[in-house]
Amino acid sequence: MKSPSRISPSGPKIDSSIGSDFSVRFFQQGVAAILIGLVTFLVVIRITAPEQTLRMVAPASGILLMGVIWWLIGRGRLQAAAILFASGAWLVAGAICVFYNGVHSAIVIVFPLLIVYAGWAISLRAAAVFTGLTVAFLIGLVAAEVLGTLPPPPPTPLAVFLVVQVTYVVVALILVGSLVWVYQRRVGELERERQFSAEIINSLPGMFYMFDANGRFVRWNRRFNDATTYTDVALAEMKAGDFFRGDDKERIAEAVRRVFADGHADIEADLAPGQGPAIPCRFTGVRATIGDESFLLGVAIDISENRRNQARLEEYRQHLEQMIEARTADLSIAKEAAEAANRAKSTFLANMSHELRTPMNAIMGMTSLAMRRTMDARLLDHLEKINQASHHLLAVINSILDISRIEAERLVLEQIDFSPAAVLDKLPALIGYKAVDKGLALELDVSPDVRAVVVCGDPMRVGQIVLNLADNAVKFTEHGKVTVRLRLAEDDAEQVLLRFEVEDTGIGISATDQKRVFAAFEQADGSMTRKYGGSGLGLAISRRLARLMGGDITVSSRPGEGSRFVFSLRLRKSAGAVAPAPTLEPGKAGERLQEEFSGSRILLAEDEPVNREVARTLLEAYGLVVDVAVDGVEAVSLARQVPYDLILMDMQMPNLNGVDATLAIRALPGHARTPILAMTANAFTEDRELCLAAGMDDHLPKPVEPQRLYEAVLTWLVRSRGTTVAV
Ligand code: ADP
Repeated sequence: MKSPSRISPSGPKIDSSIGSDFSVRFFQQGVAAILIGLVTFLVVIRITAPEQTLRMVAPASGILLMGVIWWLIGRGRLQAAAILFASGAWLVAGAICVFYNGVHSAIVIVFPLLIVYAGWAISLRAAAVFTGLTVAFLIGLVAAEVLGTLPPPPPTPLAVFLVVQVTYVVVALILVGSLVWVYQRRVGELERERQFSAEIINSLPGMFYMFDANGRFVRWNRRFNDATTYTDVALAEMKAGDFFRGDDKERIAEAVRRVFADGHADIEADLAPGQGPAIPCRFTGVRATIGDESFLLGVAIDISENRRNQARLEEYRQHLEQMIEARTADLSIAKEAAEAANRAKSTFLANMSHELRTPMNAIMGMTSLAMRRTMDARLLDHLEKINQASHHLLAVINSILDISRIEAERLVLEQIDFSPAAVLDKLPALIGYKAVDKGLALELDVSPDVRAVVVCGDPMRVGQIVLNLADNAVKFTEHGKVTVRLRLAEDDAEQVLLRFEVEDTGIGISATDQKRVFAAFEQADGSMTRKYGGSGLGLAISRRLARLMGGDITVSSRPGEGSRFVFSLRLRKSAGAVAPAPTLEPGKAGERLQEEFSGSRILLAEDEPVNREVARTLLEAYGLVVDVAVDGVEAVSLARQVPYDLILMDMQMPNLNGVDATLAIRALPGHARTPILAMTANAFTEDRELCLAAGMDDHLPKPVEPQRLYEAVLTWLVRSRGTTVAV
């Protein structure tokens, strides 16, 4: 099996700290052994041949030398200690050899040991120097022996000679043993270290490589071989730039420059292997400095899968975009269809409203006229029933139109300043008589703090809700009382939370029915319809209106005990005070017209003959002088000739409609301030706004109740006269 990684000849020399520990131990053991040997030697000589004291210089200097070496090791100066040890020990051993035992001394064993020691601890070169010196020394010794020039060995007893020889052998064996042991440990450690780092780099998730500042690879892992398809031998000869083509070559060279300059770089490029297609990779390189040389340590991750996923994602995105475009196109067709349907519904509603109100105006007006003319009690009774039925029918028409408009989101709420307390104050006039008829007490309970509050909103719609709740309370109560309360639930600088409560002691509503009564056309008990009447629309409209205004309606009730409807509404506070509406004594407007404005000239523009007839007769009944115009053109031409006191204007007329006719009349001299009141079956808020924008002063939706007509005409005649209406 080929080696997974290798250090090239030019690669860094790994100097392990484990090795240094061994050096220290080894030195100390060696020094200790030699010291023991030398001391023993000295002691033996001193005992056996005291006259040889001069010869003790060599071993004594050996002891001194060992002491210095020991001291150097203690200071951490290992290299110096090693050199001193090798050279000093060489000299001491040589001297001992010369002075005591001659060439045959076993001390020659020490020389090869010293050479090995120098080679391992200092350098190969030091070992070579010691080898040369040893060989030269031994040749010299042999020559001196042969020539007999050496001084005669001292007379040494055999026992001493043997002890010395044995000591040498023991010292030598200790040294050899230490050397072998240290060497094997060191080799083992290095091998483990090599395997460890090889294992790490081979188990990296990507390709690993390391090259020097010249781009020469010094180390790599198996994945790098596999991806590039090059053998170790081939890679050792290659440079980083050899794996890239075209633009990538220059970009990679730039990235390598950045790594060596800044320490780090990332780049995506296509790796071109020896065989097979290019592999898109992400290369991350960092600079590593080992010794005084810099290397690039790099990891490359194959990003082919990412690229494929990206391509797939892009495909999905485009597909999704196409789908969204198609859906959007479908939706916009559907939206246009819905809008067209909505427009059709609104147009239908407007037309329906107009078509229903026009005959209602005739029916109610004619009934009212007929009631005025007859004294026949039976006929009056019949007419009164027609009157009631037409009011009821009108209420139903209004409810149906209201709910349709709310559902078509076409209901426009007004934003005007009003007093919520004043809305409640109107209740007795509107339903008081019904309560009295049934023998019920109608109590109004408005807390004093609410009286001062003026808010901005739609008073007509707030009134509609309260009236509906109070009307129901009276309708569904046989004994007891109906209480209508108004409280200020919250009050801060910007807005108020109003809480209207309508409580009765009537028939109540069961828990299940309470959930249904707010749905359109739902009544608590269908069989009751016969008894109490009603369309089941009132609460549905009220709740929707309340929600449109940002509030809500809730109910709590117990069958047989009564119900309590709570309508809460948050409205913006208004700074200004509301001017009190001119008040008219109910039912007295006609008489006041007769007294104060008899002979006033009124222009009535109305194309529908019956309605024309009704309005004209109603007005003339109280002494007003009425001219009629059958369309807008005639109205403008009459206005040009006569300075009318007031003009009643229908909106939809042939030739020239009411809005354009008003614009034309306003431009005539003398008519800039003439009160012009729209009297029309176009009863929606936007119709009203259209009229006011054209310069009209008020808007009376048809069917116009006679009383309402008199009140409006009186109010505007008074205003144009410049006086206020007194109660
Ligand atoms: P309508 O009164 O025209 O039928 P509403 O929507 O106003 O329609 O009321 C729906 C139903 O809720 C009524 O038919 C009645 O059954 C029930 N309801 C409403 N108010 C009360 C009340 N105060 N007491 C008892 N039942 C009530």
